[in-house]
This record gives sequence, C-alpha cells and structure tokens, in this order.
Amino acid sequence: SLDFPQIQLPNDQLIIDYQTQKNLEIKNTQRENNYIGSLLWSIDKTYTCMGARCLRRWIESPLMNINEIYRRQNIISNFLESKKLRSDCQNILRAMGDLERLAGRACSGHATPRDLIAISEGLKKLPRLKSIIKIFKYDLPTWTKQLISIDNELLELADEISFKLINNPPLNINEGGIIHDGVDNILDGLRNVIDDYSDWLKEEEIKERKLSKIPNLKIQFHKNFGYYISINKSKVNLAPQHWIKRQTLTNEERYITSEIKNRENKIFQVKSRAASREYEIFSEVRNLVSSKTKKIRSISKAIASLDALLGLSITSVENNYVKPTIIPIDEKGDKNTKIIAGRNPIVEQLLNNKKFIANDIFFNNNQKLIILTGPNASGKSCYIRQIGLIQILAQIGSYIPANEAEIKVTDRIFTRIGAVDDQSSGQSTFMVEMSETASILNQATSKSLVLLDEIGRGTSTFDGLSIAWSVSEYLAKKIVCNTVFATHYHELNFLKNSTKNAENFQVLVEQNDDQIEFSHKIKKGGASKSYGIEAAKLAGVPAEVIKKAKVVLKYLEDNNKFDTNIKVN
Ligand code: ADP
Repeated sequence: SLDFPQIQLPNDQLIIDYQTQKNLEIKNTQRENNYIGSLLWSIDKTYTCMGARCLRRWIESPLMNINEIYRRQNIISNFLESKKLRSDCQNILRAMGDLERLAGRACSGHATPRDLIAISEGLKKLPRLKSIIKIFKYDLPTWTKQLISIDNELLELADEISFKLINNPPLNINEGGIIHDGVDNILDGLRNVIDDYSDWLKEEEIKERKLSKIPNLKIQFHKNFGYYISINKSKVNLAPQHWIKRQTLTNEERYITSEIKNRENKIFQVKSRAASREYEIFSEVRNLVSSKTKKIRSISKAIASLDALLGLSITSVENNYVKPTIIPIDEKGDKNTKIIAGRNPIVEQLLNNKKFIANDIFFNNNQKLIILTGPNASGKSCYIRQIGLIQILAQIGSYIPANEAEIKVTDRIFTRIGAVDDQSSGQSTFMVEMSETASILNQATSKSLVLLDEIGRGTSTFDGLSIAWSVSEYLAKKIVCNTVFATHYHELNFLKNSTKNAENFQVLVEQNDDQIEFSHKIKKGGASKSYGIEAAKLAGVPAEVIKKAKVVLKYLEDNNKFDTNIKVN
C-alpha cells in the first residue's frame, strides 16, 4: 500500500547530500559501516519500529521551517517537564505493534489473524495516548490533532476485530480456532455438530472400555490416521473381534472400528466446513481492515512522530541536552549560529568514562570563515563534525549537546572530511577530494554550512596550499557562508590579513619535553607548529626514524627549501 506522493519544495528541508551523510556518519560509520557509532545510534531511544523509521527519515531531511522546528521542540519540552508523562507514554508505546507495516499487510491480503489482533490492540491504546497529548502545553505539530480527536472508525474497527477474532489465534489460518463463538450463526451451528460428535466419541470410548474390559483404553486422533482406539501392548489379547488392527508401536496397539471410521468422515466434513467458514469471516475482517488502511497508516505516522520525540526527550535527559534558540534562515542582521560548550553527540557517548571537552563556536559577519589548525589527533575532525551534527539535531527539532545555543537555519550542509580513496569508481584520493570540493563551490549558498577538513593534501605542498588558500578565500568572499576549514597549512592563518570575515582558531596542545598532550580545547589564534613528528612518535614509529625526521625538519626550516644536494646527518 502506497501513500499519496507529497510535494516537497526546495526550501522545505535541509539538504544533506550522500557524501555529507557518509562523512558525518549519520546512519552508519564511515569505515566499518556500523550502526553503532552513528548519529542515529547516539540519539535513537524510540520504542516502536515506526518511531525508529520516522527518526531515520527526519535526520535524512531535517526541517527548514522554524515554526515546525519549534513545534517539535515543544513536544520534547512537555516530556521533559514531567517524568510521569514520559513513563506513561513509554508504557503505551512499548507494547505497540508496527501499525504502519501491519496495515500494509492487511491491505495486500497478507495479514494473519495475529496481525489483526496486533492492529486492534494498538488502536485500543489511542485513547490513552490522547489523554497524554491533552495535557501537553504550547503550540503542537498538526499531526497531534489526529491523536486528540481520534477517528471513531478506528476504535470501532478495533472493537470489531476483538469481537470476532480470538485473542491468541493459531498461526495456521486454515485449521480454524480463529473466530469467537457467537459471531456467526452458521459457524455456531457447525460447532454444535462437532460438539455432538465429540460427545459421541466419548460415549464410544466408554462403550469400548466396557466391551473389552480395558479400563485405560482411549480413543485418540492422529492427523494422518484419523481416530483410533489405543491400548497398551499387554492388553492385546483382550481386543474384541470387531477391532481392526491399524498400527503397532513399542508399547501400544492401535485399532479402528467401522463405526468410528463412519463417523470420522462426517466429523472431517463438518470440521472442514467450519474451518472454511472461519476463514471467510476472517477474510471479511481483513478486508474491513484493508479498507481503513489509509487511516491506520496516517495515525501510525502520528504515533511514530510522538515516539521519535519521546525518544529524543529521553536522549536529552540522559545526555544533558539543551533547547537551542532557532534563528530563521533569512534573518537579516548579524544574528548567526552561536554554540556555547558544544559537544560531539557521538564521540561523547563513545568515550565512556573519559570526559569530553566541550568547545564553543560563533559565526557572525566578522567571523564567517574559521581556519582551524592543530596537530593530528587533537580533535579537529571531531569538532568539525560536532558542528554539523548539532546543526542537524537542531533542525530535526531535537535538543542539542551544549550548554546554550542559537542555531541559524541552514539550507545545506557540505562536508569534505578525510582522504578516502574511492576504489570502486577508480578515482584517486586527490581526484575525489577535488570533485567534492568542486561540487561544494558550485552549489553552496550564503545560507549553507561548509565543513572542510584537509583540502589540498593529496598533491605537492605548494600546489595544495594554493588550492586550500583560494578555496577558503572564495568561500569567505564570494559565497560568504559559515565555513570551518581544518588544515595543517599554517600559512592559511595569514588569510585573515586580507579577508575581513576570516578568523583563526587552534586546538591547544601542551608540550612537555618531547611529549605532547592534547587538551582538545579550541581557542582563538593560529597554531604555528604541526607536531607531526611528535604524533608519529606517539604512534610508535621507531626512534631512529623520528630522530632523522627531526634533523630533516630542522634543515628545511632553516633553509626553507629541499634542494637536490641535501645532505642531512
Ligand atoms: P584530528 O582531526 O585533529 O586528527 P580527531 O578529531 O580525529 O583529531 O580526534 C582524535 C581523537 O581525540 C578522537 O577520536 C577522540 O577520541 C578524541 N577527542 C577529540 N576531540 C575531543 C574532545 N573535545 N574531548 C575529548 N576527546 C576528544
């Protein structure tokens, strides 16, 4: 069953292209393609499959409309104001089936009786959800209306299902045992006949016991042989003449009689008629559910959204998120994104007991391009991703990991992070990097957020530096969008002299003797040193190689060139 297509205008949602989704590890990690370690993993506390799918859709295409963002935030605020509301809603949703999928199955004629019971149980929970939403304050999203004025047809449908179908029906839908007594006259009549036959079988058992003088004789049923008399092997010599031997087991002998066989045919006929009648009634119920598919799917979307927001409120409580103020995309003045003590939602959860170091970020008319320098492994990528992830969280209406924040709505997030060879398409690292850079420069607008990590590293130093310089300058002067550029080219710090909206930031490190320590703290100012050799030492590169590298570096720094006659001892 398909929903009607929804028309989406270009300005409806924040565009996160495929590469950016990969770079920011929205649904899977980049290296191992794992769910654990992704943004979704760090925030998904939904209770239903519908809620989980909804949250996934949201982070793929966050909102642009500030009112819609606020309305989602309002639901989270309501949940945060009352622990009882949260736990009541959790209890309802925890036991809720996947109404969206179940309705689809009913529509395609594949639903089983258990599916219909699950639909009925789910729909019966609607009044309880309603009582929760009715307590909510503030301006709420339009979908909440469906949960407040519940369509009576859905409640009637739920009653109809549970009136007709047995609560715990068997998996096999062809053998009966699905429909309650009292639902259908014909079925009741057939069941009476079956009951009569059961009584007859009981009487027959007593009669044969008396006749054979075998007190523990039983009439039993096997789906391949039908009804038979079962006695213990030790009693074989008591078997009367009219018994016909059917089967010998280790401790048991089985017989039939012509009378039992005669009745058996009739019992089978009636049972089969009853089972078909049950199937007919079940199909009628399924068709009825099918006719309401659209309504069920629509209400399940509302339940899914509520679940997603309940989950986000739990994430907020557990991880100390705050509500960001949202600045409209077309805000004219100098108001721009400002995050105080922001944290990376993924890394802070992965660090376990280690403390995550929070960092600020500000953009304004004098600070549009941030050149970020600092050694390897100091936290540049983590910081850059954090800005993108917080932006996405804010635009899905979630609270965010920070102490305080104002987030300006953005139309697109672009990222170019890390050097990954695209082996499948046969492209070199540098070509991949340049084509991504090209697409950013061609598509970014003044309302975009651009996060760049190490552009221009796949070629010679001067080549790379020149590209990095002109790319940053173009972003700051021509496109004028919020940009963070992490780089090892300290020369880019001089851009500030000729670009009024560029600012330098660095990740602070402490150097004690030969050791460097990462503080992960980001401060104004440019780094003057890369500490690459110190990082290589930390990584376990042999001492001899490190020693030589230092000598070569000193030569280069002193002579400012690497000539062919170089002799370094
Ligand atoms: P870079 O991009 O500078 O090479 P990363 O961003 O990859 O460095 O960070 C390296 C590691 O340092 C991360 O995997 C994380 O474990 C840790 N780290 C980074 N930033 C922080 C932070 N703010 N607080 C705590 N640990 C951090």
